[in-house]
Amino acid sequence: MSAVLLSGKQLAQTIREKAHQEARELEADGLRPTLAVVVATDDGSTHWYVRSIERAAGSAGIGCRIVDLGPDATEQVLASVLQDLSGDPSVHGIILQTPLPPGVGTDELVGHIAPEKDVDGANPLSLGRLAVGRPSFAPATARAVIEILDHFDIPLAGRNVVVIGRSAVVGKPLSLLLLERDAAVTVCHSRSGPLEKYTRTADVVVVAAGRTGLLKGSHVLSGAVVIDVGTNVLPDGSLVGDVDEDSVRGIAAALTPVPGGVGSVTTSLLLLHTTEAAREQARTLVPGSAG
Ligand code: NAD
Repeated sequence: MSAVLLSGKQLAQTIREKAHQEARELEADGLRPTLAVVVATDDGSTHWYVRSIERAAGSAGIGCRIVDLGPDATEQVLASVLQDLSGDPSVHGIILQTPLPPGVGTDELVGHIAPEKDVDGANPLSLGRLAVGRPSFAPATARAVIEILDHFDIPLAGRNVVVIGRSAVVGKPLSLLLLERDAAVTVCHSRSGPLEKYTRTADVVVVAAGRTGLLKGSHVLSGAVVIDVGTNVLPDGSLVGDVDEDSVRGIAAALTPVPGGVGSVTTSLLLLHTTEAAREQARTLVPGSAG
């Protein structure tokens, strides 16, 4: 048996087309949905990723404003830029790209992103709203995992799902989205002990740790579904996930590839969130123009 590969490419394209359609409708009403991406690093892979967002936005008819503050930007400058963008009516979505300059913390800064423009669910207010089931933008990566599971008709209600990783951008919000879908959720992390203690009973394992080869075939049940969120750049420049594909492929029923899995869907969702944010902002600004 070899695991079926759950490619995210077709789903990513479908979501991008939906965002494009939304953008066309908004444009007809005189509004160009626009995403601002704030960058403060000279890290090559970050710039590569930001350019890929810019290209994807362009192909979906969405404006993309890259605000590159350079690797020496101070926390004050970053805070002030985020506040300005939050108040700028021509910007509908804002992402603060990591890594940030040494000594500059993400936690305080993301609080400056207006919740209605927080298309990557970074502001703690967004996570809080998610926790109590109120409308908010979930981090695009967490939502991408759910969209992939839905796309391939993998049931979640009553299923045993293990999430490896508890970060505020992936593991925690994903565990909330899974709970919302009636899964029984276990969250593992660097201090939860041997992975197999949890993963050997899981119907679905989602790994988001940023550790090459962390999840091995011996960790998973025969027939499990494995979603690989990890993105690790090897010394030769190639991109791999957190799953040891060679050993997992023979045991799991299905596995997302890296690249071409969760990441591709994530970018499309950022664009869709931007159009959703633009529509909502237009509706609130002009009462009665729900469109
Ligand atoms: P993070 O470093 O903030 O968090 C990693 C989490 O993994 C932590 O909670 C940690 O406790 C856990 N962990 C680390 N080693 C572990 C181990 N040996 N056993 C169990 N748990 C362990 O990282 P993050 O921002 O959550 O990102 C996780 C991965 O997902 C990274 O590879 C990142 O590049 C990738 N990522 C991908 C996308 C995408 O769109 N595909 C988006 C965001 C992040």
